[in-house]
Amino acid sequence: MDINKIRQDFPILGEQVNGKDLIYLDTSATSQTPLKVIEAMNDYYREYNSNVHRGVHTLGTKATDAYEKARMNVRSFINAKRFEEIVYTRGTTAAINLVARSFGDLVIESGDEIVVNEMEHHANIVPWQELAKRKGAKLVFIPLEENGTIALDSVKDAISAKTKIVAITHVSNVLGTVNDIKSIAEIAHAHDAYISVDGAQAVPHMAVDVQDLDVDFYAFSGHKMLGPTGIGILYGKAELLDKMEPIEYGGDMIDYVYKTESTWTDLPVKFEAGTPMIAEAVGLNAAIDYINELGIDNIYQHEKELVAYAYDKMSAIEGIEIYGPGKDQRAGLITFNLEGVHPHDLATALDSEGIAVRAGHHCAQPLMKWCKASSTARASFYIYNTIEEIDQFIESLEKTKEFFS
Ligand code: PLP
Repeated sequence: MDINKIRQDFPILGEQVNGKDLIYLDTSATSQTPLKVIEAMNDYYREYNSNVHRGVHTLGTKATDAYEKARMNVRSFINAKRFEEIVYTRGTTAAINLVARSFGDLVIESGDEIVVNEMEHHANIVPWQELAKRKGAKLVFIPLEENGTIALDSVKDAISAKTKIVAITHVSNVLGTVNDIKSIAEIAHAHDAYISVDGAQAVPHMAVDVQDLDVDFYAFSGHKMLGPTGIGILYGKAELLDKMEPIEYGGDMIDYVYKTESTWTDLPVKFEAGTPMIAEAVGLNAAIDYINELGIDNIYQHEKELVAYAYDKMSAIEGIEIYGPGKDQRAGLITFNLEGVHPHDLATALDSEGIAVRAGHHCAQPLMKWCKASSTARASFYIYNTIEEIDQFIESLEKTKEFFS
């Protein structure tokens, strides 16, 4: 792949930050947006901005077609069986909250167990904590291995006859660990438990086939996969979504409203009350087309090369601590600390060189405790990053280290 050609598709990569060419190493927080996505959303507002599922006028029909076409595109991108299984949400967080609130309230009873682990983003811990509180259930944590991976034996040990739901991330946004979701789903199902997966850091970077993984729920965000903010997806098996109650009520999601009660429309719109994120669906559709044109396996391969290169170079810096598994076992991100430099100082110093990295707790405070750090720095890579950028990043790391020593 010609990365320099791909970079031309991302106008923001031509920007200067603090007088330096931007080096964007914060894709795990949010990815950059290719022109095709920007233009698709622009076209929507310029040419057919209108509400969906309502009017019969031409613009309304065009907007509805685009909104539903995007849903079909998402369906085939993750190989869901039916379009009814694709629910638009505001993002991964909203999708997980929908599962915990609606499905959780349906199946969890007092004394039941919900299996989680310490590598989860707050979005995949707090909704389960709240569900456990509501129902008098208990959270059970799968212990992490020393290298930040999850052993299948530990999953087996954590799951008991009381387990109803296993909530787990596909890829850790801090450790880069890629969890074996297919095997974990098998274990969960063998114990009659359900599995809900946080796919925020997986779908943008690797081929995900929800039927092959045999997961019950799978959540992800548009803005981490070259699409816009404000839109995400909840995939759920139709037979489960069918049984669930909506958690938001209002226009569009109803079948009929009587004076004192109402009935709901069919999947998936039952979960999409009110005017939805139409331009964002159009943008997400364009983002998926763009990823498909490049090929998700090519994207994965490129990131593997970048992360292996960065890992080797970073490991050679004295006083660096890298969290998580080795270079061959991780997705395209590296979380680290540099001895004697606070991550915020490090990120500020890098920013002065035009390099954007994330510093903080990464919305994963239990994991920070596991890392024995209050905060860390993270560099994350995507299809538009180059080896030359990593070289400059390493050079700036070394310069910063020297400055603070
Ligand atoms: N889960 C993981 C693993 C994430 O990395 C993130 C975002 O950083 C989220 C969930 C939350 O995604 P969003 O803020 O788009 O809802």
